[in-house]
Amino acid sequence: MTVPALIIGGGPAGSAAAITLAMAGMRPKLIERHKLPAGCVCGGFLGWDALRALEALGIDPWALGARPISRFRLVTAERVVEAELPALAAGLSRKMLDRALLDAARAAGADVTLGRAARAIDPLARSVRLDDGDTIAANAIFLATGKHEMRGLARRFAHSSAGLRASLPSSQRLDGLADVVELHLFDDGYAGLLMQEDGSANLCLSVSRDRLNEAGSIAALLPDLMRQAPALAARMEGTVPPRFDAVSGVPYGWRARNSGEGIFRIGDQAAVIASLAGDGIAIALASGASAARAMLA
Ligand SMILES: Cc1cc2nc3c(=O)[nH]c(=O)nc-3n(C[C@H](O)[C@H](O)[C@H](O)COP(=O)(O)OP(=O)(O)OC[C@H]3O[C@@H](n4cnc5c(N)ncnc54)[C@H](O)[C@@H]3O)c2cc1C
Repeated sequence: MTVPALIIGGGPAGSAAAITLAMAGMRPKLIERHKLPAGCVCGGFLGWDALRALEALGIDPWALGARPISRFRLVTAERVVEAELPALAAGLSRKMLDRALLDAARAAGADVTLGRAARAIDPLARSVRLDDGDTIAANAIFLATGKHEMRGLARRFAHSSAGLRASLPSSQRLDGLADVVELHLFDDGYAGLLMQEDGSANLCLSVSRDRLNEAGSIAALLPDLMRQAPALAARMEGTVPPRFDAVSGVPYGWRARNSGEGIFRIGDQAAVIASLAGDGIAIALASGASAARAMLA
């Protein structure tokens, strides 16, 4: 089978490309390995540039229950510093955001297939092998697998960090989090906390792989981090969330220098900004839409 445009990955980058192509009258094919977006390792902070990009794609985060954020708070063991953000931002779970984007892609006319994974890409033949053995060729391929490598076009990097994410259920320990993104700093990493649409808090940590490897496990690492971040320990009341999403190879600072003809790397497959900046989603949306416009030009 040959399709005009094949998008691998249904995160913000892949969906932005699909919506942009479909709104221009194409019928792009998007393949997402999860049957339903279930959330991923991400702080869920939507900056003002992400909010603008979502609006352009026809998504209203406030209608999805996004919580407004107008301040940030930096917390260390010794100090707390708080300041206004330059513009209004928002907190929204990735589960909610990714579902809304995929729904919008489908509504715009994209052919969205959930629950199938791409196994390998042949950039010269411009074809992709799927987990069921099928091969799809395309005039253009948009690689949007985010934090995950694709055989045939894997990113090469020497250093990377680990990312962890969990939800903290609504409780008094989350008091003072309304309207704020709170960042707790510790050696070789940080934890971000913000309220999301269902009243729970999203807890997302970035920590060097060396530190995680030395600890040996998430359960062994957390008490060590809590000693350096007592205010975070107080928020968690000494309990460790039962389930963490985890990703082991986040290559902050990595950038694609080139890609083959008809191959568009978008989102984290194009460049990885430090997650502390809270701008990865905005970049993913912008790069997906720009690559789609470049293909259409
Ligand atoms: C710890 C941490 C915290 C962060 N916090 C924030 C934040 O608060 N705000 C912010 O703006 N950015 C944040 N980021 C960055 C942000 O998560 C990414 O930049 C953004 O998700 C990139 O979007 P993407 O679409 O490129 O990839 P992803 O969001 O990773 O989406 C990729 C999609 O591709 C799918 N996929 C992967 N492999 C395959 C395959 N083989 N076949 C089919 N589908 C596949 C995945 O299931 C997924 O749905 C954070 C990053 C980290 C590591």
